[in-house]
Amino acid sequence: MSFASLGLSPAIVHAVREQGYHAPTPIQTAAIPAILRGADVLGLAQTGSGKTAAFALPLLQRLLQIGPDAARQPRVLLLVPTRELAAQVAEVIGGFARQLPERLKISSVFGGVSINPQMMALRGGADIIIATPGRLLDLIEHNAVRLSAVSLLVLDEADRLLDLGFAEELQRILALLPAKRQNLFFSATFAPALAALADGLLQDPERIVIETAPEQRGQIAQRAIEVDASGRTPLLKHLLQTQGWERALVFVATKYATEHVSDQLWAAGIKAAALHGELSQGGRTRVLMALKTAEIQVLVATDVAARGLDIPELSAVINYDLPRSAIDHTHRIGRTGRAGESGAALSFICADSATNSEAHFRLIEKRQGQRIKREQIAGFEPTGLASPEAAVGGVKGKRMSKKDKLRAAGLR
Ligand code: AMP
Repeated sequence: MSFASLGLSPAIVHAVREQGYHAPTPIQTAAIPAILRGADVLGLAQTGSGKTAAFALPLLQRLLQIGPDAARQPRVLLLVPTRELAAQVAEVIGGFARQLPERLKISSVFGGVSINPQMMALRGGADIIIATPGRLLDLIEHNAVRLSAVSLLVLDEADRLLDLGFAEELQRILALLPAKRQNLFFSATFAPALAALADGLLQDPERIVIETAPEQRGQIAQRAIEVDASGRTPLLKHLLQTQGWERALVFVATKYATEHVSDQLWAAGIKAAALHGELSQGGRTRVLMALKTAEIQVLVATDVAARGLDIPELSAVINYDLPRSAIDHTHRIGRTGRAGESGAALSFICADSATNSEAHFRLIEKRQGQRIKREQIAGFEPTGLASPEAAVGGVKGKRMSKKDKLRAAGLR
């Protein structure tokens, strides 16, 4: 099988060759002809399958065929969950685009950095926009970009878009797009919330499923464990001793708890350190280095202290105390399961806690568009469990405040 036989034009085939690709991967073989035909595509494939080129090549070919838009409004919109993926996709598309006869302008926009340079960069228009949803909406509000010329939409890593709490932003963006367009949907997993999103988006899609070996899957396995508040430290010790996690980050609510819990772990022979806001810069650097070099296994941290830090690849993130907001949750769990690694994100649910963490966790699930099965661990079953139905009565879904959104943008 060759790239030319998939229907790609000589200019695109040349660009592929320049990148050193000789033969298409399975997802490329299946997706490229379908996309060139104008079909919607539902692709279940992991990073590493070659999925980026699978949509990049046909979308470049289609842009060349249509020719430039007079107003230079973006004709292709790619939505991605993270800044890292935005950069990665931009690099792949840019690498091919550089080889083409027509100059195409590719802009990537994401949160966590100042909006002004992105607004400036969009002034002369763009052909392709690669965006995280929150920042794209901000730019639309600032009239820096319009979506009325988009004829091709790509959702990349749709599962992570939902994991990271972007369901609402996605719906707002979809409502701004022209109805007549081609939609490409890529995801590594296909939970019910994703099926609902894909159903609303895709028309008679070509389904492409690429099986990946489990060890290549980078994803976050979320677990919700019911336990008494007083049973959390013993359960934490048990998990750290039995799950084989190389590096874990445990989130607690207060500075006192970071120290108290890490002391108790030490006493049980588990190498742990506290990370809280009152630690000096040097102190923070030291504990992070200790985690990186495996001098310690566990970091017990508050949200504030962990914010913005370059924490090394983690095997597990544990919500000993639940985060205050869904967006903090997103940020916490996003620290595991990166770059093809699989990670676990565990939340301790305590029906007997003062804050009623069952009801609070339901709000987080609602924001994520996901429901996580409750489990109990033998020997650590809760004793004073209130009925979950009684607990959630009357609790409404919480919308993110402006502050939360700003914080989210700053963290992405
Ligand atoms: P992706 O799944 O899109 O993240 O791609 C994974 C890696 O495979 C990237 O480093 C690509 O450059 C590379 N790649 C994608 N398609 C091909 C191909 N047909 N031949 C060789 N390498 C490829």
